[in-house]
Amino acid sequence: MKIYLDYNSTTPVLPEAAAAMQPYLSNIFGNPSNTHSAGIAAAASIEKAREQIASLIGAKHKEEIIFTGSATESINLAISGVMRSQDNKRRKLLISSVEHAAARGTALALEKSGYELEIIPVNKKGQLDIKALKKQLDNTVALVSLIWANNETGTILKLDEIPELVHSHGALLHLDAVQAMGKITVNIGNIDADLLSISGHKIYGPKGIGALFIKKGIELEPLIYGGGQERNLRSGTQNVSGAIGFGAAAFLAETRIDEYIKHTKELRDRLESGLRSGAKHIQVNGDADSKIPNTLNISIPDKNAEKIALQLNEAGIAVSTGSACSSSKGTSGVLAAMGCSIPEVNGAIRFSVGWDNTAAEIDYTIEKLLELINKQVGSKFTKIIKV
Ligand code: PLP
Repeated sequence: MKIYLDYNSTTPVLPEAAAAMQPYLSNIFGNPSNTHSAGIAAAASIEKAREQIASLIGAKHKEEIIFTGSATESINLAISGVMRSQDNKRRKLLISSVEHAAARGTALALEKSGYELEIIPVNKKGQLDIKALKKQLDNTVALVSLIWANNETGTILKLDEIPELVHSHGALLHLDAVQAMGKITVNIGNIDADLLSISGHKIYGPKGIGALFIKKGIELEPLIYGGGQERNLRSGTQNVSGAIGFGAAAFLAETRIDEYIKHTKELRDRLESGLRSGAKHIQVNGDADSKIPNTLNISIPDKNAEKIALQLNEAGIAVSTGSACSSSKGTSGVLAAMGCSIPEVNGAIRFSVGWDNTAAEIDYTIEKLLELINKQVGSKFTKIIKV
């Protein structure tokens, strides 16, 4: 049996999205910048995809969506683009301590080149320390960039007063919405973020395509210069088939969101309760009250999660440890930032379910994992650790 429980890392392309892309890989091959009919056909399809993505996030104007080569690029463009477009008065950037490497890496690179960077801590559930945010906010801050739904723990950042706080200091708010998109209902009008990054391959679209929502009126410095595509913000001939597939996936995500939430939550909760009842010492990481429906992150203290993940893989079950979205191996900075101990970090496994998973697969996973844990732990741990 092959069981894939790593949908936060990537998803397959839905057949409907693949079918929508197909003509753009063969007979509809025009360059969308050309003014002849082949180019016009390609450009029209890109605009349709832009509309579908705008609709998924509740953006009023499709022009607020810029296609990029990945969410990583979208995040780079948002952060670098805002910081580099500022005058000398606003040189400060705020991020959280649980950002994806795309935001953290960009922020650190900017700091190296002379910008001021402050990292706002989170609590044990992964929620932002609002007091610390307030302390850092002043009229030198240009941008606050925050991960909305955490890829490792699934914690959904409680935005509450954050947008208003940020705006009251004249700063902009960027959200990394890669893991939120398609998993919770998103309406940009309600959340009041200025910039939002999303990715095709996390919502059952193709890899190598991302997008950045930029609220009308906000000016950015591009990362890539050239032919002026994507409103001069992302030069380079667009990935036409990628954009079409992303658009189709966005449309499907929007129409099926309730069904998706129900399906994944049922399976995730089944996995969690099965594991909890068979291994009392496991710890569930993240915020139980504010979590995307498909993600379960557990720590099996004093166990080597890498080893367990390998053994699960041998049993045909794909899961992740640490941040699977990064190609570099290492322990989780996210869990450490949340105050987890080294054994909790080293013993952390992330399960992320998707459309194709079944209850039988979850039951098999519970059985296999309990077998592995109990074989190695014996009866040493009896304490229930609750977060
Ligand atoms: N942000 C988050 C929260 C992610 O999970 C990922 C996944 O890799 C990214 C950003 C980067 O996305 P992409 O693979 O499209 O560059």
